Amino acid sequence: MGAIGWALKLLFPEKCPFCGRLLGEEEIGLCEKCLRELPYTGGKCKTNGAFFGSCVSPLFYEGAARKAVLRFKFSGKASYAACFGELLADCVRQNLPGSFDVITWVPLSPRRHRKRGYSQARLLAEAAAAELGVGNCVELLKKRRNTPAQSGIKGAAARRANVSGAFEASRSDALIGKRILLIDDVVTSGATLSECSRVLMTHGAETVVCATLCKARR
Ligand SMILES: [Zn+2]
Repeated sequence: MGAIGWALKLLFPEKCPFCGRLLGEEEIGLCEKCLRELPYTGGKCKTNGAFFGSCVSPLFYEGAARKAVLRFKFSGKASYAACFGELLADCVRQNLPGSFDVITWVPLSPRRHRKRGYSQARLLAEAAAAELGVGNCVELLKKRRNTPAQSGIKGAAARRANVSGAFEASRSDALIGKRILLIDDVVTSGATLSECSRVLMTHGAETVVCATLCKARR
């Protein structure tokens, strides 16, 4: 860490994104207690979907992890991206063999993006890309219309219908023959990731694998 880094650390002491405790000198990104006790997925990190190879997620969407994601999305805690991106990148390294040509993310609708001011999935993707050493992290998808949040919709068929046709490729020329890692914050049924992957594959992507910070326990 350079002089500016240390100065920032003195001015803005870092807190654990999961419990809010001030981090000690030895603690990087999150506190020791959360590092030990977070709801890790372990051997259950994978979710399968129709159009993507595999989705891996380091945490279950519950307890402190769920609350931290909600603050990340809805309370302006964009700074959590660094810690979350590292957890995500570790999980990718351990569970998704092979390399990627490009990393991208599940986009928000323009309306939701304006309201929130940032895309949490994009911040995660950029942080994970930096950790993984993948230089190519770009927007490949756009959301055409606002859809009701998947979390409020019950049943796999209804979730698929909700996102059907909601995404389009924003740079179709950039997709041909590419191995893509697609990032989002939470996976529930996999319907959103599947729809995004379908669009990427339709435009010539060779493979799509996914990673999210959390997965819902089902
Ligand atoms: Zn903590």
